[in-house]
Amino acid sequence: MPKPIKRTRFAPSPTGLMHVGNAFAALQCQQWALSQHADLLLRIEDIDFTRCRPEYSQSMIEDLQWLGIDWHGEVRQQSEHLPCYQDALAQLQERGLIYPCFCTRKHIQQEIKNMGIAPHEEDMHDAYPGICRDIPATKQQQRMQNEAFAWRLNVKKASEALHKPIYWLDELGTQHEIQPETLGDMVIARKDIGISYHLAVVVDDALQGITHVIRGEDLRSSTGIHRLLQALLKLPSPTYQHHRLILDIQGKRLAKRNQSTTLKNLREAGISAQILRDFLMQKDATWAFSYDATAHTIAQQLGSRT
Ligand code: GLU
Repeated sequence: MPKPIKRTRFAPSPTGLMHVGNAFAALQCQQWALSQHADLLLRIEDIDFTRCRPEYSQSMIEDLQWLGIDWHGEVRQQSEHLPCYQDALAQLQERGLIYPCFCTRKHIQQEIKNMGIAPHEEDMHDAYPGICRDIPATKQQQRMQNEAFAWRLNVKKASEALHKPIYWLDELGTQHEIQPETLGDMVIARKDIGISYHLAVVVDDALQGITHVIRGEDLRSSTGIHRLLQALLKLPSPTYQHHRLILDIQGKRLAKRNQSTTLKNLREAGISAQILRDFLMQKDATWAFSYDATAHTIAQQLGSRT
């Protein structure tokens, strides 16, 4: 019997030029695929039209090609498949598992304050205090005519619908049990874009036959949400592996908002893809360049290390 195909994907969001942190993540996926004789697919996660731009998608594809990342088949561009995600949303809606939420961020924060809980700001989105959960149907309908709204998952109802405990599996075969109530009623369709990353990613992982998700440690907290959605939508669940993030000299993760060095900068400074790859594939590689180091200085130092 032929062995079933293993398949992973690299799924960047084109909200800026590709930086060294993205390159590191792409290489992790590629290394895994090569070591497993697996397919590596490329998916551009561009549903957030408020932040993504087509020119960034194009430059990401060029940067990946330059870096030597080969992918299998066509690139999947999420913005071209919106009906797939809307169908999934409709399924949850028909089963009464989601509800419209009219709250603004400020309203939620105020409510949390009034309740006397002071969670860390970053946790606020998880700590939705249920303001819109029990609005009567007629009132909901009225408000939906006149107000902008997001859709939230009713986690309590979702747990009841599942009956049994659910787990996600890591690469070592360890099962991680999900406690849905700790996830909070998360947003499944945003007010502004009408869908969400969580919903789109589980739909696409299933449609593309992804068996293994290799992604950064920063997304570990989303894995429980994804597993829960897979169980509700009766989608298969891949195995998850969360790789370390490459950090800068201050121990912060490389991200667009920290103005990380872009691949374009490095290319223009004359650094070869091979030098960058070799550097990033070293065990414990850290991007130990000061914030204001020029691409030229970086290129020179990387070049002299090899
Ligand atoms: N598009 C997500 C990001 O760029 C990654 C999604 C995933 O790997 O699940 O952070």
